[in-house]
Amino acid sequence: MIQVIEMTHSEKVEMYQMVEKSRLIEMLIEANNVINRLTEVKNLRIADVSGSLPCHHNYIQKDTYWKSCTHCGMITPLGQ
Ligand SMILES: [Zn+2]
Repeated sequence: MIQVIEMTHSEKVEMYQMVEKSRLIEMLIEANNVINRLTEVKNLRIADVSGSLPCHHNYIQKDTYWKSCTHCGMITPLGQ
């Protein structure tokens, strides 16, 4: 388990003032890389969802009362 210690804004300012500029630049680049990766993952998830949502159901009769979609497997009473 990772314990996250929350710092106040002024504590962060104090801490970063002690860090060398070249180290700060590295941290900024790394932080931006993380943001870019998270953004890519989010975009992929949105694409997944929008790709799977609109199902043009193709029902086949399962038994006397139910039919199911051959694409997504959704089960619906006959006559709907
Ligand atoms: Zn379907």
